[in-house]
Amino acid sequence: MQKIDPSFDYPCPCRKDARLIPIALTEALGCDKCSNVYVVINEGMSIEQVSGMPGVKRILAWNGKSWQPMHRKYSLKRSIIFLSVIILWSLMIWIMAQIFPGQWAILACILAIVCFPMVIDLLSR
Ligand SMILES: [Zn+2]
Repeated sequence: MQKIDPSFDYPCPCRKDARLIPIALTEALGCDKCSNVYVVINEGMSIEQVSGMPGVKRILAWNGKSWQPMHRKYSLKRSIIFLSVIILWSLMIWIMAQIFPGQWAILACILAIVCFPMVIDLLSR
């Protein structure tokens, strides 16, 4: 794996002819074909996708020719967080349903589903 040089021209992981262009005044790289934005992490050894769906952030490393996905270690930590949040969340909804039966339980469920990706996003940072 090679260190990422922010001034170097890298292809975007989305397709071969797309390029990653440094975004001025930031550590981020943006694609000129898709809307993906990546930040350099891991002391310049890899990039992390910051755009797109919360909870599906990709980490990629440059091997000199192409981007290699790096997720094994990361995804284990993620899935543990994900699982514990689901359990806690369901517990919370259940408690809410016990305290506030009827309409309030439905409202709590909707609120929980809406907030869920945000919570995952915050925890996995
Ligand atoms: Zn792209």
